[in-house]
Amino acid sequence: MSSLSDVDPEIAELIRAEERRQADTVKLIASENYVSRAVLEATGSVLTNKYSEGYAGKRYYEGQQVIDQVETLAVDRAKSLFGVNHANVQPYSGSPANLAIYMAFLNPGDTVMGMGLPFGGHLTHGWSVSATGKWFNPVRYGVRKDTGRIDMDEVRSIALEHRPKLIFCGGTAIPRTIDFPAFAEVAREVGAILAADIAHIAGLVAGGAHPSPVGHADVISTTTHKTLRGPRGAMLMATSEEHAKALNKAVFPGLQGGPHNHTTAAIAVALREAATDDFKAYARQVVANAKALADELSSRGFDLVSGGTDNHLILIDLTSKGAAGKPAAQALDRAGLETNYNTVPFDPRKPFDPSGLRIGTPSVTSRGMGEAEMRQIGAWMDEVVTAIAKGDADEVIARVHGEVSELTGKFPAPGLS
Ligand SMILES: *Cc1c(COP(=O)(O)O)cnc(C)c1O
Repeated sequence: MSSLSDVDPEIAELIRAEERRQADTVKLIASENYVSRAVLEATGSVLTNKYSEGYAGKRYYEGQQVIDQVETLAVDRAKSLFGVNHANVQPYSGSPANLAIYMAFLNPGDTVMGMGLPFGGHLTHGWSVSATGKWFNPVRYGVRKDTGRIDMDEVRSIALEHRPKLIFCGGTAIPRTIDFPAFAEVAREVGAILAADIAHIAGLVAGGAHPSPVGHADVISTTTHKTLRGPRGAMLMATSEEHAKALNKAVFPGLQGGPHNHTTAAIAVALREAATDDFKAYARQVVANAKALADELSSRGFDLVSGGTDNHLILIDLTSKGAAGKPAAQALDRAGLETNYNTVPFDPRKPFDPSGLRIGTPSVTSRGMGEAEMRQIGAWMDEVVTAIAKGDADEVIARVHGEVSELTGKFPAPGLS
């Protein structure tokens, strides 16, 4: 019964180091979070030992007495939390979940419409380097240059011109509410399947802090590890039996083998947590925190794409600050403020060295931080970015890092020891 530190001291020490790093950093990466100790325990369980290809009651291996109950609990909790008739909790992650949507409803070469990656869409919505852009015929919509927002008239006219079989809404860098009813109208008009990819906002939807796509989208795809605060994994949901059957067949045997049962159990735990009043309060606070941080940054001369945020995410164009995204993100990381550099709409710079920063408030909210801390974080970001724009940031970075450590010490992160 040797422990990890006996069997593999190198990996054990690296895990401890990462735990310390996560504890000491103000994590502003919009797609990340801190799972609870309960979710971690389920993830690190013996359920990883079991093969269970198929679905509850229809498996290809014996010994499913327990696994069937685990998966059924996860499915039932997903159905009740999101108010859908069907849920599949087996996709290994968000990208394979989206691929299953193509497999369920399209043939290679069919037309898919999604938001372009540089405007905030996801690779799997038909971007050129993705299998979805190579094996299907992608057409793309973006945002308006003057508003930074999706223009539904443009979406409609592209759809009418190209008649896609599948339309994706949702994305990875969209700071504004997704208008699911408007997308549904366009999809109906051209006879397309509408897929709402709520990977980023699933926790806000579950907690009532963003409108739900249920009743508008034919299928809903989500990761479970972003605002939803579960393990790395994904789910597909549908209203109609016909769509659900097609999705189930696409996930298994279409694309995957055995489901990751330890992940399924952890998804079930996260869904139980997400059904609580505490989680609703968290979801509301994520948005309140993002608005407070956006206000602070705006008042300090940061240029926010679309002028602000409705959700957990803020996209900053650093051009007005005389800095670029990558050096800013690197300097902020040295100061203990973890972000990612990101393309902004109509970015004149290259994707590896773009003009923007993407930040979000799920992780800091999970630590219990509120609006006052957001204003402090906005002030630190301003100090660091202003210093690197001037070319001399070492002193500022060292001082801010000290102040960041004081703050993180006061707000222990869930799941960390
Ligand atoms: C994160 C994300 C995905 C992909 O999830 P992975 O688990 O990283 O494969 C898909 N779609 C959207 C909108 C996302 O934000």
